[in-house]
Amino acid sequence: MTTTLLRGRLLSFRRAPLSLADSESYFYETDGGLLIEDGIIAAAGTYADIKAKAPEGVNEVDHRPHLILPGLIDMHLHFPQMQVIASYAANLLEWLNTYTFPEECRFVESDHAERIATHFYDELIRHGTTTAAAYCSVHKTSADAYFAEAVRRNMRMVGGKVMMDRNAPQGLLDTPQMGYDETRQVIADWHGKGRNHVAITPRFAITSTPKQMEATAALAREFPDLHIQTHLSENHDEIKFTCELYPEATDYTDIYARYGLLGPKSLFGHAIHLSDREADAMSESGAIAVHCPTSNLFLGSGLFPLKALARRDKPVRIGVATDIGGGSSYSMLRTMDEAYKIQQLLGERLNPLDSYYYMTLGNAEALSLADRIGTLESGTDADLVVLNAAATPAMALKMDVVKTLSEELFLLQTMGDDRAVAETYVAGVAMKAKLSEPAA
Ligand SMILES: [Zn+2]
Repeated sequence: MTTTLLRGRLLSFRRAPLSLADSESYFYETDGGLLIEDGIIAAAGTYADIKAKAPEGVNEVDHRPHLILPGLIDMHLHFPQMQVIASYAANLLEWLNTYTFPEECRFVESDHAERIATHFYDELIRHGTTTAAAYCSVHKTSADAYFAEAVRRNMRMVGGKVMMDRNAPQGLLDTPQMGYDETRQVIADWHGKGRNHVAITPRFAITSTPKQMEATAALAREFPDLHIQTHLSENHDEIKFTCELYPEATDYTDIYARYGLLGPKSLFGHAIHLSDREADAMSESGAIAVHCPTSNLFLGSGLFPLKALARRDKPVRIGVATDIGGGSSYSMLRTMDEAYKIQQLLGERLNPLDSYYYMTLGNAEALSLADRIGTLESGTDADLVVLNAAATPAMALKMDVVKTLSEELFLLQTMGDDRAVAETYVAGVAMKAKLSEPAA
């Protein structure tokens, strides 16, 4: 048995914080010990208590004065868009057609898909992200590369082969039957292998014919435990075009509802411009609205009403994500900084406890995986991030005057990025130190 004892300041949420003063919502231990046995958290508490329980001669790693949290979770990003990030475009549809679709065509080649997969997981680890839900391209080769690399690194990942059969270049189209068959094959090959979760992944209603939506509905019925991921209500032109393609539907959300795709494991990227009716439908079904702030600002898509959706009589479940490559950073810290600013523009407050809850336990709950990740509870996976709030000279200078935990968290969120990630543990194994430095 491999046993490791980490020492540092432990922080883990028990539930969503009600306010910045809600100290019951989290567990915080200033001199904490975390015991890991074979990739699983065996115990967390004061260092003295945990040390007393640990076996003789246990491998100890001292991370003081850093914070040890559950690994960060990214609820929505696109694995084939690593070379799309930072592309200059006027809006979503121009960005898709000019940069994204041509780039995704390259993933038919398994050599290319495998090379990008290596970089993709390197970036997640570099940024302290231990679980992500990603879209592959339409090609099965891309899903194979994505899941094989997850197994190699023993990471808990959600992902799916995109289904799309219209409104894109020929090289990116499947057919309703192909999309169905290949998704079934990806499920057979990868679901439950290592720590992989396969998601049913119709890109969005614009790129799927009604026939393909029916095939998606069939998959959802056959595999009711799987996640479903797609895009919803990102941009006004997109909404208008989508509703024209499905004139019988009441609104954009209703298109997915008609095909049985609204449920507690359905992850809807963006969901910025929902009507009250749509928000009610999301809430009643338990579907998740996944907020992608850097992407929404970068593409000028709109300001996601996170606080307003969360406090409705019928609240909408919310996740947070980078949306690489519409998003502009792999860092969940950068993501929450932008999420904060969006709420500021809407006259709302997103406090630092909210942010760290969303990046960890909140996203784990949104993925229905809180029994495994997003927490430091015993018996869960030892996927962890170690954060250093004094990682740069400017951060260290500010840390001189920081007095409280929430001030420190806010500093990390406002100024931090991959430099603030001192280490990333995947199933108890330190992964960041092993990464090769980028070529000079
Ligand atoms: Zn997306």
